[in-house]
Amino acid sequence: MASSTVRVDLDGKPINQLTICMIGAGGFIGSHLCEKILNETQHKILALDVYNDKIKHLLEPDSLSWAGRIQFHRINIKHDSRLEGLIKMSDLTINLAAICTPADYNTRPLDTIYSNFVDALPVVKYCSENGKRLIHFSTCEVYGKTIGSFLPKDSPLRQDPAYYMLKEDASPCIFGSIEKQRWSYACAKQLIERLVYAEGAENGLEFTIVRPFNWIGPRMDFIPGVDGPSEGVPRVLACFSNALLRREPLKLVDGGESQRTFVYIKDAIEAVLLMIENPSRANGHIFNVGNPNNEVTVRQLAEMMTAVYANVSGEPALEKPTVDVSSKEFYGEGYDDSDKRIPDMTIINRQLGWNPKTSLWDLLDSTLTYQHKTYAEAIKKMMSQPTTS
Ligand code: NAD
Ligand code: UDP
Repeated sequence: MASSTVRVDLDGKPINQLTICMIGAGGFIGSHLCEKILNETQHKILALDVYNDKIKHLLEPDSLSWAGRIQFHRINIKHDSRLEGLIKMSDLTINLAAICTPADYNTRPLDTIYSNFVDALPVVKYCSENGKRLIHFSTCEVYGKTIGSFLPKDSPLRQDPAYYMLKEDASPCIFGSIEKQRWSYACAKQLIERLVYAEGAENGLEFTIVRPFNWIGPRMDFIPGVDGPSEGVPRVLACFSNALLRREPLKLVDGGESQRTFVYIKDAIEAVLLMIENPSRANGHIFNVGNPNNEVTVRQLAEMMTAVYANVSGEPALEKPTVDVSSKEFYGEGYDDSDKRIPDMTIINRQLGWNPKTSLWDLLDSTLTYQHKTYAEAIKKMMSQPTTS
């Protein structure tokens, strides 16, 4: 239930009720953000998406205590004249809409570039022209590869944070060659960031840019063949969950040597709510949002997920829990990878006082408990059916 006491911002000022136009509200992050806003605030949400499966529990039945505060609009922002009107009706627009699964970047580069740059253009334009605040979701992938990745493997400088720490206001964006179409997403996101920033500088657009660093948790992506296409390749959490549910080995791309920092979605959403409710501290800033303490190689992630899932399901792990695959085999031509992603937290700490709380083990425990409850039966049923030839 939303609390009836007056909410105050970080400077002790009362927070006014906002109308928020949330584009991509039906996705992974959007569903958690809607839940948080409806539970803890009095803000209203105009939820725009082409799908609403992940927020159905928030929309139905009408008797829900917040029913009057969320309205779903099934809209494809590529071509829908209602978009400007909805932005005009709102105090704040949050744009989450994107194609953001790596398997698409090199196989559907045009869709990726259109989705992450071209389709976001009118959103920026309508916010700027109508004097509306914008929180735009970018990605940690705009950093690309670390400077350290170009040093010899045994160079001691690789241990120096100056060569790997990713800082919003200092680190360069380092992508591979054009044939490495993996970078189509990062490059489109970088250009839209530059456009948003320029609208701020030249036309006074009030903006905040968010760079998520591998936010994970329940409702992320889909399990192939259950609530998504059988041949689809989601992000690593869902790929590994799918293999665990089916009792198949987890596939390690190119040896699973890349490193990632994972943050629990519920921690990350707290940072977004702080941005929403503290415009004077968030406007004009780009924020890394991640958990620098949760760094693992993909191989370590696979091992940890295997151990956590054995606890959660009560089924022993496979004797050989992982298998190596080449990136060409797994993703196809044009794949490339970010080697390491550690977010510098100075700016978000200083502006919003936010820190992530949840350890990797704990976040995997709650997430895999959810995956098991949600999918184990469906997978068992599906696997027991004879395959049609
Ligand atoms: P998601 O795919 O679950 O959500 C995106 C939503 O946008 C989907 O529901 C999709 O239907 C909707 N959408 C896409 N195109 C649309 C269109 N033309 N019209 C209307 N709706 C459209 O992804 P997510 O993980 O929730 O990510 C949200 C944002 O955060 C994206 O911009 C993504 O690039 C960024 N991001 C997320 C992560 C992460 O860790 N989850 C990491 C980096 C960046
Ligand atoms: N990966 C893997 N096996 C999988 C899926 C992904 O080894 O089944 C690797 C992928 O190559 C990358 C990392 O896991 O190094 C994270 O991939 P994800 O799709 O989550 O997105 P990214 O962090 O690269 O944006």
